[in-house]
Amino acid sequence: MEYIKSKIRDVYDFPKPGIIFRDLTTMFKDPRAMHIVGWDLAQLYRDKGVTKVVGIESRGFIGGAILAYEIGAGFVPARKPGKLPADTVSASFEKEYGTDTIEIHRDAITPDDVVVLHDDLLATGGTMAACYELVKSMNPRKIYINFIVELSALNGRKNLPADADVRSLIVY
Ligand code: 5GP
Repeated sequence: MEYIKSKIRDVYDFPKPGIIFRDLTTMFKDPRAMHIVGWDLAQLYRDKGVTKVVGIESRGFIGGAILAYEIGAGFVPARKPGKLPADTVSASFEKEYGTDTIEIHRDAITPDDVVVLHDDLLATGGTMAACYELVKSMNPRKIYINFIVELSALNGRKNLPADADVRSLIVY
């Protein structure tokens, strides 16, 4: 885990002054870190009967697809509005400035699915909370929540359902 952490780059004052952005691209470009992340994510869910991994646009597509492949599950993209071609369900959530919306294909999740929701990073939790409500409305058997990185100082877990199973590889 220390190896992965050592490959994450801290970018100061991005996207605005005072913010430290945890840049995972430096980790993804490292072959050994990619291998470890894929393996460690998979270890969290191997015995859970997971059938679908939902990756949140866009950074959640990378780890989400790797996780899905490793555990033999399917991959479902949760996308920004207007990107998915077929019939969708959507959820909106508050951001610092205005609202944001995510969409999933209506037929992407069925009631017999066991789902992992994946994003690269948990900050305030707003994005994941919206994704959770959206997928929950599709009535799968079980929903797990997963991140590569969790920023504990922002206490994003308090915005996620209290009974949710939330797992992250690295906590700052
Ligand atoms: P939240 O909704 O939890 O406040 O924000 C999480 C979303 O914003 C994730 O989709 C994540 O990709 C992005 N995000 C926020 N801060 C960071 C950061 O420091 N590093 C990275 N890689 N993504 C971030």
